[in-house]
Amino acid sequence: MDELLNLIGGKRCAAMSGGWIDVHEPATGMVYARLADSDERDVQAAVEAATQACAVWQGLGREGRSQILLRLADLIERDLERFAQAESRDNGKPVRLARTVDIPRAVANFRFFATAAVHFASEAHLMDDVAVNYTDRQPIGVVGAISPWNLPLYLFTWKIAPALAAGNCVVAKPSEVTPLTAHLLADLVEEAGMPPGVLNIVQGLGPKVGAAITAHPDIPAISFTGGTRTGAEIARVAAPMFKKLSLELGGKNPVLVFADCDFEEMLTTTVRSSFRNQGQICLCGSRILVERSIYERFKQAFVERVKALHVDDPMDPKSDLGAVVSQQHMEKVLEHIRLAKEEGATVLCGGTRIVLGGRLAKGWFLAPTVLEGLGPGCRTNQEEIFGPVVTMQPFDDEAHALALANDSPYGLASVVWTSEVKRAHRVARALRTGIVWVNCWMVRDLRTPFGGMKQSGIGREGGVEALRFFTEAKNVCIRL
Ligand code: NDP
Repeated sequence: MDELLNLIGGKRCAAMSGGWIDVHEPATGMVYARLADSDERDVQAAVEAATQACAVWQGLGREGRSQILLRLADLIERDLERFAQAESRDNGKPVRLARTVDIPRAVANFRFFATAAVHFASEAHLMDDVAVNYTDRQPIGVVGAISPWNLPLYLFTWKIAPALAAGNCVVAKPSEVTPLTAHLLADLVEEAGMPPGVLNIVQGLGPKVGAAITAHPDIPAISFTGGTRTGAEIARVAAPMFKKLSLELGGKNPVLVFADCDFEEMLTTTVRSSFRNQGQICLCGSRILVERSIYERFKQAFVERVKALHVDDPMDPKSDLGAVVSQQHMEKVLEHIRLAKEEGATVLCGGTRIVLGGRLAKGWFLAPTVLEGLGPGCRTNQEEIFGPVVTMQPFDDEAHALALANDSPYGLASVVWTSEVKRAHRVARALRTGIVWVNCWMVRDLRTPFGGMKQSGIGREGGVEALRFFTEAKNVCIRL
């Protein structure tokens, strides 16, 4: 059985406790590897290694660091197929998706920040003939990165790439549910020429490893992506220590469909935005709001398309959906569907587990599910489900659509479908979400600010925002 290890001070090592955690393959429900069950002792060793490596890493300068990160990107690209197979096996997502989205994006994350850091400039403020101020943005030192299971390597690298490019050393924890591609990444670090201790990966459980990173006094900044409840716990511990925090949390994203939209394009994209990665993307639209005049037409066409989606072996290139990530998560989603019915929902399609044959007989597969008949205030429309489940609600006019869309404790992303330019601008301005897509979904420019409002988090990732987060700004004022 494969052993998934830590990377500390450039060495692959088991947890100091000697303990292991079973790692499951969602498509089969079977254990296929074991993971180092690390704790605060491993985190301590990682912080010491990272602290020691800071001088060497910063001494390389932006260009030197950039070259190493670009090499790391090339190595992931070289091994793309191996990474894609691993991501699919570990997470349950279709290998086609891992091959075309997850792993290429991990490559892009390193390339983007390797070059962005070279071009990163700071401001100067001239006070007429009194003084000149310039902003010196220095690396923070050792920073923490904690990432979730839904886009494992994609989100892991989205944090560590800017942190490293900005000159920091990193102590990172992938999700215990999907540790495999971070383990494979650790194998490439030396080959890329990265000095030992610059990137440390501590595998294990959130309440042990994640909590130890959060509480460690020598990690002054933490970038976290995950659930809102975990984010609140991290903030509770880190805030009194005055740590810098970037929290990318949950969502309950609305999709606003106006009658004047390009119906076919909207339909195709809305099927994708609802069920891609089994609905386990923080950006998936889970509340579909449709103008009443086209509600019945949309409902019929949408349900027909959703019923045609192929749920099967993630390794099969024909599969549209694979397995959800864990048995616990599958049960949570099924519980939400049960609750929706109790709240009065009509199940238009799906609503059940799918049992496949052969080696997939014990896999965690769910039918894509469409619900209607629920008001905006019920738990189904308020709580994040994070699975292949969407609800539909009709609206009467723009004001009604906005009221429904903004009636949420979350504010991560929204999607607007309309052909009217003025309406697009008006609605985009009025939506209380950090990201608005108009007539598209998941179109990502890595330079743009990424993050949410309300309970979807604090801070923004991406482009200059990430490089600012991972540096300390110091103003130097010089008398003229
Ligand atoms: P969790 O919050 O459960 O876990 C996220 C990470 O935090 C994991 O590595 C987890 O470890 C770790 N963790 C758990 N408990 C603690 C703790 N007490 N202290 C520190 N770290 C801890 O989220 P999920 O992995 O379940 O991911 C799904 C969630 O992520 C959804 O809510 C989704 O919306 C959100 N998300 C948000 C995105 C955004 O950009 N806003 C993007 C993608 C997902 P372990 O795995 O061992 O539990």
